[in-house]
Amino acid sequence: MNDFINRIKNNSNNAENNNSTIFKGNGVEKGIFSPVNGQLIGRINFADNKDYENILLTARSAFLVWRKIPAPKRGEIMRQFGEKLRFNKQELGNLVSYEMGKSVQEGLGEVQEMIDICEFATGLSRQLYGLQMHSERPNHRMIEQWHPLGVVGIISAFNFPVAVWAWNLSIALICGNVCIWKPSEKTPFTALACQLLLSEIIQANKLPEGISGLILGDQLIGEIMSKDSRIDLISATGSVNMGKKVAVNVASRLGKSLLELGGNNAIIITENATLNQAVPAILFGAVGTCGQRCTSTRRLIVQEKIYETLKIRLLKAYKQLRIGNPLNEKNHVGPLIDKEAVNAYLLAIREAENQGGKVIFGNEILDGPDHPGGLYVIPTLIEAKKDMEILKQETFAPILYLIKYVQISEAIEIQNAVPQGLSSAIFTNRLMESEFFLSTEGSDCGIANVNVGTSGAEIGGAFGGEKETGGGRESGSDSWKSYMRRQTCTINFGNDLPLAQGIKFDI
Ligand code: NAD
Repeated sequence: MNDFINRIKNNSNNAENNNSTIFKGNGVEKGIFSPVNGQLIGRINFADNKDYENILLTARSAFLVWRKIPAPKRGEIMRQFGEKLRFNKQELGNLVSYEMGKSVQEGLGEVQEMIDICEFATGLSRQLYGLQMHSERPNHRMIEQWHPLGVVGIISAFNFPVAVWAWNLSIALICGNVCIWKPSEKTPFTALACQLLLSEIIQANKLPEGISGLILGDQLIGEIMSKDSRIDLISATGSVNMGKKVAVNVASRLGKSLLELGGNNAIIITENATLNQAVPAILFGAVGTCGQRCTSTRRLIVQEKIYETLKIRLLKAYKQLRIGNPLNEKNHVGPLIDKEAVNAYLLAIREAENQGGKVIFGNEILDGPDHPGGLYVIPTLIEAKKDMEILKQETFAPILYLIKYVQISEAIEIQNAVPQGLSSAIFTNRLMESEFFLSTEGSDCGIANVNVGTSGAEIGGAFGGEKETGGGRESGSDSWKSYMRRQTCTINFGNDLPLAQGIKFDI
């Protein structure tokens, strides 16, 4: 269906004549099926230990070359990659939509995010600034400088199959690192497409191929990477469960990790909110990507005076949602990724009901010719009580819990009473409410928005969250510092050797 599949086939070193075998590692074979229609996209052979070793050694030797290339020249490579993505945007966006199941507009948006971060990285390559400090000793100066770490291992999730890699890769590369990417085992074809585009740039510039390596496999390869002290930074995006394992494995070798894990994001709607603003933000947050964003809105905390009005508006909006093939731009919501996700959706709804929740919309799997494959579900609204245990859980599906509050302090308490701390938002036109939400007593999340929903972050800010979300920061602001090692240098340009803290050591 997608020209990329043919290009991947033609460019794969190990391509076989068998049409269904597109990439050949030496490990187990896996068929990849589209959630859109259940059709086979192709078969992949995962990497085995020997493939892993080759990729790692190629990366380590590429690092010796790449780290010596001036940062602005590394930035130029990112500029070229951004251009390449611009040229291939439509096709790559379609493939993201077909393999992952998000709407084609969101697939294109993801590729646009890749283009944006490439441009950001190009500019940043001239701004990897260190500080200069005044020394307490005469004829001395102190500086702080930044060096690359080495090999950055990127483990990514299925739901942002290309953008999260680009966030990490572009910043890591301009800092002078090389990268090895282990994408989700659910979305290997988009990864192959990205790798194909980047390798064209690397070859055209006569750079070593190991600057960016791709390794296909499941969590076993992720575990090997986490335990391997030849990987200097593991940047892992995925579930809290995965992050807890990666954190232990990396920490046990005293390595560095950057964790971007699950969220359980809430929007507070006060009685001073403009509902015309709030309703589309809630809708996009709760049903966009079929509720499979780390920043998806999962809880709506609503002041009791406007609760009924908002509920009626939401029900009306949910009834208008078009659910179906995400490649058709008229549809708002595509399928879930796989059967396990559908089961998790059903289980969470049942659990919510058992705990006293009331389903007011949804709770249904769609079938028939417009919904092949059994993965299309109706986004669900549940009226919930604030102390229900299920509210603490991230269910990666379009389920939105509606919770009432009376005082703003109570709303913040409810919003913070979950283990995750990624994204949060308040809708209000009252300064005192929005400032309270942003104060130290307010949201405990890495992202706190006012009159903007929880999902759809811009690349210019640092992205990430607190508590079980893992504490990592990626993308904009000074996140680049996570990909470099800091070195403090004291330089003596005098003839004496004064010691710090006035210590005398006369001999
Ligand atoms: P997942 O945890 O199942 O898998 C993510 C990646 O980790 C995959 O590549 C997988 O192979 C790998 N992996 C799994 N177990 C591992 C282990 N023990 N060691 C090393 N690697 C391992 O997640 P998923 O289902 O692909 O994605 C959904 C989850 O990701 C959600 O919880 C979502 O909130 C989270 N997510 C977070 C962010 C963020 O920036 N905070 C962004 C996207 C997704």
